[in-house]
Amino acid sequence: MARYIGAACKLCRRESQKLFLKGARCYSDKCALTRRNSLPGQHGKGRKKTSEYGLQLREKQKTRRFYGILESQFEKYFEMAERKQGVTGENLLRFLELRLDNIVYRAGFASSRKEARQLVRHNHFTLNGNKANIPSILLKQGDIVEIKSKSLNSPKIKELLDEKRMVIVPQWLEVEGSKVKVKELPKREDIDLEVSEHLIVELYSK
Ligand code: SF4
Repeated sequence: MARYIGAACKLCRRESQKLFLKGARCYSDKCALTRRNSLPGQHGKGRKKTSEYGLQLREKQKTRRFYGILESQFEKYFEMAERKQGVTGENLLRFLELRLDNIVYRAGFASSRKEARQLVRHNHFTLNGNKANIPSILLKQGDIVEIKSKSLNSPKIKELLDEKRMVIVPQWLEVEGSKVKVKELPKREDIDLEVSEHLIVELYSK
């Protein structure tokens, strides 16, 4: 599947916001956004995009990049969010939060969503005791994700669990050792992405 393979920090600079795409580096003073907070490219410093469409587009791109989602997948989440009862923008963010790869990251079992996706694909987790190697699986309240006992011996997993966790586990998740439980569904105020989701709704409603 096609994925963005360019410089991750460029994406944060483009959105003028930390998207936490590079694990430990994002929490250090090596973060490119801390060192150089201007838009990427030769004319980055002077570039401004203030049209309504431009603002809507930026909010959509920022959200998509934060969660590492492809355009087509993102559109599917939007359609699901629209069909569901409630506020579409909040529904959209909730779907993105409930992805298996995001929950692995939020629980502190990976240092970035990209790493979480890779660990899930490499079969290191179970969901309610069953095999779970698809990063986009959407979890429900009460679901439990666990690192496989065999994987606990993997040097990579050991390193991740031994490392001081930089990620703050949100209160809607409950982490106990190598297990994480979805205690409740996330509410908008639980989601730390600074985004005006109504602009995404406006963009797709055109
Ligand atoms: Fe973004 Fe992390 Fe790079 Fe900082 S270090 S610019 S947060 S990807």
